[in-house]
Amino acid sequence: MNNRQEQSDSPAEGDPKQGTQQIGLPPVITVKQLADQIGVSGIEIIKQLMRNGVMANINQSLDYDVAASVVSDFGLTAKKLRVAAHGKQKAAAKGAKLHERPPVITIMGHVDHGKTSLLDAIRRTNVVAGEAGAITQHIGAYQIEMKGRKITFLDTPGHEAFTAMRARGARATDIAVLVVAADDGVMPQTIEALDHARAAGVSIVIALNKIDKANANPDRIKQQLSDLGVVIEEWGGDVVCVPVSAKKKQGIDDLLENLILVADIMELKAEVDCPAEGIVIEAKLDKTRGPIATLLVQKGVLKPGDNIVIGTVGGKIKAMFNDEGKNIRKAEPAAPVEILGMNAVPDAGQVFQVVADEKESKALIERNRVAGLSTTTARGVSLTSVAAQASTGEVKELNIILKTDVHGSIEPIRDSLERLSDDKMRVKVIHAGTGAIIESDIQLAVASRAVVIGFNSKPEPGAVRLAEQEKISIRQYNIIYKLIEDVEKALKGLLEPEYVDVTTGQAEVRAVFEAGKKGRIAGSQIKEGKATRDALVKIVRGGKVIAESRVAGLRRFKDDVKEVTTGMECGVKLDSFNDFQVGDILQFIRQEKVD
Ligand code: GDP
Repeated sequence: MNNRQEQSDSPAEGDPKQGTQQIGLPPVITVKQLADQIGVSGIEIIKQLMRNGVMANINQSLDYDVAASVVSDFGLTAKKLRVAAHGKQKAAAKGAKLHERPPVITIMGHVDHGKTSLLDAIRRTNVVAGEAGAITQHIGAYQIEMKGRKITFLDTPGHEAFTAMRARGARATDIAVLVVAADDGVMPQTIEALDHARAAGVSIVIALNKIDKANANPDRIKQQLSDLGVVIEEWGGDVVCVPVSAKKKQGIDDLLENLILVADIMELKAEVDCPAEGIVIEAKLDKTRGPIATLLVQKGVLKPGDNIVIGTVGGKIKAMFNDEGKNIRKAEPAAPVEILGMNAVPDAGQVFQVVADEKESKALIERNRVAGLSTTTARGVSLTSVAAQASTGEVKELNIILKTDVHGSIEPIRDSLERLSDDKMRVKVIHAGTGAIIESDIQLAVASRAVVIGFNSKPEPGAVRLAEQEKISIRQYNIIYKLIEDVEKALKGLLEPEYVDVTTGQAEVRAVFEAGKKGRIAGSQIKEGKATRDALVKIVRGGKVIAESRVAGLRRFKDDVKEVTTGMECGVKLDSFNDFQVGDILQFIRQEKVD
């Protein structure tokens, strides 16, 4: 039952005489219920409570007087109700296995906008006085305390690291702080970071940095953000935006308080009465101490002596340290912790699990080995695989990453693509940008199961390698209607695989032999690559392709062979071409399917 129904004996009603709306309040109401009643966000209520000197989280119960004063702060009138039904709270109390946990934050944004400075400022302003100079430890994450509330920060800034982790299936972050320099504004990587955070479904908080600079122009940035669909609270939206200066350490506490508010709205919880689980933030081999890993606990409580399994790596925790290098006895959900005792170095982004004993550890390692957990198990999507699955109704959403040469092409292509959505299938451009297709585009494609489409945009070599490794399809176009048509066909299950010619080798004809009725054989030498029995051959004479034919026979001396490599000589017989001349070039072609 929701509140509005419970209060049917006295619903919120307009008072025509006074022009103020009346809100019916029970004797006790939670912050969340009050927000719903008034029709504002939970954050706004919590902020108003703070102004009134009350620190509350979203689930906190307020008594009538406190709630009524907030109601009047919003220009409304409160009226006390007789009934106080809190079915929701009772239900929540039953499943009391989940405990509140601190939020985990990643800092993102354009290069030089101050991500590293902000991470540093947050850490330095929130350590016990006197210890600030002693921060030398970097373990990949740190935790601070603000008014008795903990907040965890992942210490590797940037969306690339964030999405690379996600590509391995790890979800570590709850809130992304998007740093935008107030003197510079929204830049390409700001948009990229925003898209990466949105694709991951994490909450976004804006840190408007460098406000100390004389040429800082916060309003311009707020406008730019709003153009991207990020409407900040001040402008009537629901995105929190905090002006800060990482350099002058201004606004840092305000940012932290806001992060706690946003975390409260998210109601972050974790199970604690269970074997510990979480993910590897980073890991390395120390010459004297052996493999060291920083883990982020996500469930349960991690302790020294625990048997731990990470993919195919096992171990028993010998010692645990926090981000200040202090020996600790336990690590609760959202705590970053450095551990010793693994028998090898695990990969960042891998999941760790605590098991009962060594026997269970061995069994789990074996299962993980079989499942190939030590390597990436990501599965890519391609337009042709979408086409194959579309007919069976298996695909419900097609995510696309679009890269174009010029900015002006983005909107028309995005619009046309998204308009292809129907009630069965949603097409979503999760990231669009200009320039070459880069590695982080491929990471995002892996993490969000997307296809990458380049319009007059080519992939960088690193991106090609990663795409091949992760089985991500990159489609390149230079005609818009062809691009749209292919996606449309894929959605309808009609896209036929396309083939491109890949030259695998070239041979030069050295002599021509008569082979009786069977035709003629070209005695050839392989100049580069290889000739294969299943190839298509293009015959080039005087720089022009004069004919093409499939291979009918490939021989080395008297033996039929499947392939012949560079430098070797062979006899080539073709299906539908006999008219060889010495000096002809035979191009051996393999047809590859385009995904
Ligand atoms: P990142 O590339 O986003 O990690 O940016 P950095 O933290 O390395 O900062 C880039 C530059 O901006 C450095 O020279 C910083 O000193 C400077 N910077 C960072 N934050 C501020 C700030 O709040 N005000 C001013 N004036 N400079 C800043």
